[in-house]
Amino acid sequence: MTATHKDLKIAIVGAGMGGLACALALSKKGFTDIQVFETASNLGFVGAGIQLAPNMARILDRLGCWKDIEREAVDLKETSIRQGDSDSELGHVDLRYIRETYGYPHMVGHRSSLAGQMYAHCQKESAIKFHFSTANTHVESFSPKPTIKVTPRDGEAYTVTADVLLACDGLKSQIRGQILSELKVDAQVIDTNQAAYRIMLKREDMVDDPELLELIDGEKVTRWIGEKRHIIAYPVSSKQIYNMSTVQPDINFAAAPSATYTTRGDKSVMLNVFSDFCPKVQRMLQKVPDGEVCEWKLRVHSPLPTWVHGSCALVGDACHPTLPHLAQGAALAIEDAAVLAEVLSRIHDTEPETINTTLLVYENLRKERAETLVELAAASGRALHLGEGKAKEERDRQFAALKEKGGAVPDKWADADVQKKIYGHDCMVVAAEKYEELFKEMGAKSSNGKATI
Ligand SMILES: Cc1cc2nc3c(=O)[nH]c(=O)nc-3n(C[C@H](O)[C@H](O)[C@H](O)COP(=O)(O)OP(=O)(O)OC[C@H]3O[C@@H](n4cnc5c(N)ncnc54)[C@H](O)[C@@H]3O)c2cc1C
Repeated sequence: MTATHKDLKIAIVGAGMGGLACALALSKKGFTDIQVFETASNLGFVGAGIQLAPNMARILDRLGCWKDIEREAVDLKETSIRQGDSDSELGHVDLRYIRETYGYPHMVGHRSSLAGQMYAHCQKESAIKFHFSTANTHVESFSPKPTIKVTPRDGEAYTVTADVLLACDGLKSQIRGQILSELKVDAQVIDTNQAAYRIMLKREDMVDDPELLELIDGEKVTRWIGEKRHIIAYPVSSKQIYNMSTVQPDINFAAAPSATYTTRGDKSVMLNVFSDFCPKVQRMLQKVPDGEVCEWKLRVHSPLPTWVHGSCALVGDACHPTLPHLAQGAALAIEDAAVLAEVLSRIHDTEPETINTTLLVYENLRKERAETLVELAAASGRALHLGEGKAKEERDRQFAALKEKGGAVPDKWADADVQKKIYGHDCMVVAAEKYEELFKEMGAKSSNGKATI
């Protein structure tokens, strides 16, 4: 019997957003041998809220897990962009058109619900086997058959050979580092000089304050902006939790440079950063319990020359980490996974050259889109964080025009044209339609020696 895509052995490193989505999407396409290796001992209660944009929801629905995620999520009806100091509204956008236009609403949820439901659905698939507490320590070979050395926390290291290796190992990707070193490419993790506090307030801590109760009971994303800082906030978990995510200049991490990306922050420092913000914001920040201030370093990576090496492809934050201002990092990782499943399930044979060319099709379908959104997120942050001056005057003129007659929204996340570009793109349909054409194109490049990396 001739081998088909279903016989391909898949190794996935990382069980984050991209890794879980890859496993589920490939299993749904009939792949029968999918091994997932994850350093952590379980998925944990990976803190904080997450925006569930329509481009993410569409994929999760096709994978069968959206209904379970949607149940606990909050359906956003509006967004309000406000001056951090005065709380006056700069812009307001009605989000109800999104469901009608894109077939899915824009919702917000808890990360643990998103990851937990993807995992629960993976567990129903006999093709998927998880290896927790097991880190990939080294890729011994990228082709013809990728071979990785994995080390269980309490056991002996062993090697795993697969046909396809998917590196879903996040922003600090060890596999990316190894690929770049083999290709002799000097691309680095870049400090954005920004950091984020991620805060979750309990409903019971807000109910006695009418203004705060209105926030947690609303179906609204509120963004308070100030010079070099902003706070974005929305209710999650059936309105039992109010999620606040801040962005501010990085002081803590810059003061003690290290490989650490999260740290316990000092509450008084956090309060100081937002000391000129309005009393409503101050009251919420005051409610964060001492010792529970968690600060994240925001890092990105300079664009990579390629995401593919032999029979290995990089996925998600491993190849396109982004600032959170468009709320698309996890959505892009899930899109990557869906596209990989589309193209790998159309593979003509199981030869390493065919796998390499098919992974290059994936890269071709994804790289420009991901890098455009990464840049757009950075640009949106620059507009939100302006200090006094001509650029801020122009931004605020745009906000005023938006109130009067509609138009562009300087907060790109809420801009209808940007939303069309992001939510209107059905990556699975595009991948299915373009696979054959791109496979020929990539194959021709490979045989000219231009793309076999
Ligand atoms: C403040 C903030 C707010 C955000 N808000 C949003 C939002 O609203 N919407 C959105 O879509 N995105 C958001 N994001 C982005 C999103 O969290 C990431 O883009 C997303 O998690 C990337 O998924 P990933 O699978 O690539 O990486 P991750 O989810 O980071 O997963 C990587 C996994 O690989 C594992 N791993 C690493 N190395 C190894 C190894 N050697 N061996 C085995 N396992 C390994 C890790 O333990 C981890 O589980 C936000 C990010 C930040 C910082």
